[in-house]
Amino acid sequence: MRTLQQLTRPNIWNLAPYSSARNEYSGHAAHVFLDANENPYNEPYNRYPDPLQLELKERLSSIKGVPANNIFLGNGSDEAIDLVYRCFCEPAKDNVVAIAPTYGMYEVCADINNVEYRPVPLRDDFTLDADKLLAACDANTKAIWLCSPNNPTGNSLADSEIGKILKAFDGIVVIDEAYIDFASQPSLSSIVTSPRDIAATPIILQTMSKAWGSAAIRLGMAFASEEVIGLFNKVKYPYNVNQLTQQQAIQRLNDSYTVENWIKLLNQERERMIEAFQLLPICKKVYPTDANFILVKVVDAQKIYDYLVEKGIIVRNRTRITLCQDCLRITIGTRDENKELLAALRTF
Ligand SMILES: *Cc1c(COP(=O)(O)O)cnc(C)c1O
Repeated sequence: MRTLQQLTRPNIWNLAPYSSARNEYSGHAAHVFLDANENPYNEPYNRYPDPLQLELKERLSSIKGVPANNIFLGNGSDEAIDLVYRCFCEPAKDNVVAIAPTYGMYEVCADINNVEYRPVPLRDDFTLDADKLLAACDANTKAIWLCSPNNPTGNSLADSEIGKILKAFDGIVVIDEAYIDFASQPSLSSIVTSPRDIAATPIILQTMSKAWGSAAIRLGMAFASEEVIGLFNKVKYPYNVNQLTQQQAIQRLNDSYTVENWIKLLNQERERMIEAFQLLPICKKVYPTDANFILVKVVDAQKIYDYLVEKGIIVRNRTRITLCQDCLRITIGTRDENKELLAALRTF
């Protein structure tokens, strides 16, 4: 079985990270800060933010049930996705395996980092075939990308199949849970602190961009072992999460009651939309979903997409994606937005 050191690029394992003024000073109460070449004027924006976002991590820790030391925060989940490549995958040598279809950033980041990307199709009903993914791995496979609930299909992957991969694969297994707050099944986040009987090094991704209604502030989370978090912290930009984002995230987290209500409302609206779509003549199939969107197979995705654009309504055309021919991905909006979409489709 490969150790974390063997999974890590040697230059990253041996990296001496940049040490910022804020890193070097911690502890003793101080009131004169002449260490970081900041301007003493223009409070509160003149000071560098906390590079490790400790206050925000403590809040997240109590909400997510993951210790603060097992949390990495980034400029969206996209930063954590990129860090997986930069920390573990040697360009032009290592490869990663991923389910298909799934979130496009895993492949884009592989291309940017010159890492071979091996997509493995889900079954026709979008369920996960663990054995097929494992068969695509070789000695240079450093990571496997899973996404549950999956984008753009909407379904959750079966715990039993994910478990098979965690048990058999001695590399990084990323489970992207961007939509977990809309799902009925719980997060797998506890496996990062109590990994029972598994060969894999798990990394769970979550985000404030979806259920938490904060896509604009760019805050993504990775939950992993303290060792993996340590590698991410070494490689990230020193001040990767700005002060405004940290403050706004704390405010949002302090009002989780509102978020619970949004989730309830959107999930109700989702059920309404599924029923309405099943009655639409243009709709051939609505796929089961655990996310805040539905994937629907229609008679002619391109034509309907163009028609909706004419009416000022934008959905996502997924017709050219693996297994998604003539499929549109439709985000659940407000009741009025959803009504407008349905009205437009009834007169197509
Ligand atoms: C929307 C989405 C994200 C969110 O990315 P951010 O960079 O945090 O906004 C991550 N993963 C998946 C699968 C998504 O659909």
